[in-house]
Amino acid sequence: MYLAMDDIGSDKVEKINKYSNPKDKWRKIDEIALVYGFWGIQISGMYKKKFGLDLYNIPYFICDYRLTYHIGGLYYLLSEDDVINCNDMIEQSLNIAESYGMEDVSFHPPFIYENIDKRHLSKDYLKKIITKWLPKYKNHGISLSLETHVSPEYFIFKNLDDFAEFASSYPDLGVLIDVSHNFYDGYKENNIIEILGNLKITGLHLSDSLVGVEFETGTHLPVGKGNIKFQKILQHFKDKDIYGALEIRGNSRDILSSYFNLNKYII
Ligand SMILES: [Zn+2]
Repeated sequence: MYLAMDDIGSDKVEKINKYSNPKDKWRKIDEIALVYGFWGIQISGMYKKKFGLDLYNIPYFICDYRLTYHIGGLYYLLSEDDVINCNDMIEQSLNIAESYGMEDVSFHPPFIYENIDKRHLSKDYLKKIITKWLPKYKNHGISLSLETHVSPEYFIFKNLDDFAEFASSYPDLGVLIDVSHNFYDGYKENNIIEILGNLKITGLHLSDSLVGVEFETGTHLPVGKGNIKFQKILQHFKDKDIYGALEIRGNSRDILSSYFNLNKYII
């Protein structure tokens, strides 16, 4: 397992945006990842949204890192139009991943929110999409992974077992475990390993979590600010060739301390 940069640190975001030339922004991002000590970078829509960078124009020096792509954000999958949009999103991500030697593309399960009676419909649409894209991704040697967001009031899966049952019917489908979200939803470290451990895990989203507080203050915390026993999780996955991307809301000091707290369990 190797650690990958996802969040960059609020103070670093400002530093990157002091540059106007995209190449200079990428150079600064490279420098930040290097100083933290990351082997990989998980690229996401943030690079466009926060820095105005073109993901179809990533410079060669960024490609020296192990790269993965994460499609963030919430989307519904309740109509044929939603299916078209989702197909576009997954096709564009494949194009980006293929152009820059990215190893994996991950995405969230569809959002459901007030449409909880339509779980089946949304799941059927998701099956169609996964069946269409998995072989195409496989042909390019890139894994396509679904993230383990299962808060049942928001996403289509009722719980982690429901997610695991769905994912197990696609042996080539990767699974990105969001440790923070799953812990917040009441799953302990050993539950996460037991329920998901036999699936094709491609990566972990790593941040700490506090149960019993508001979602915003209970997830994506710097390591040590919550109750997750990372040693248990990381020791289980440390010998696998997967990434652990730090999805941490905070400044550069929070990211650096989280990095050191996690790295000691995988070396
Ligand atoms: Zn995540």
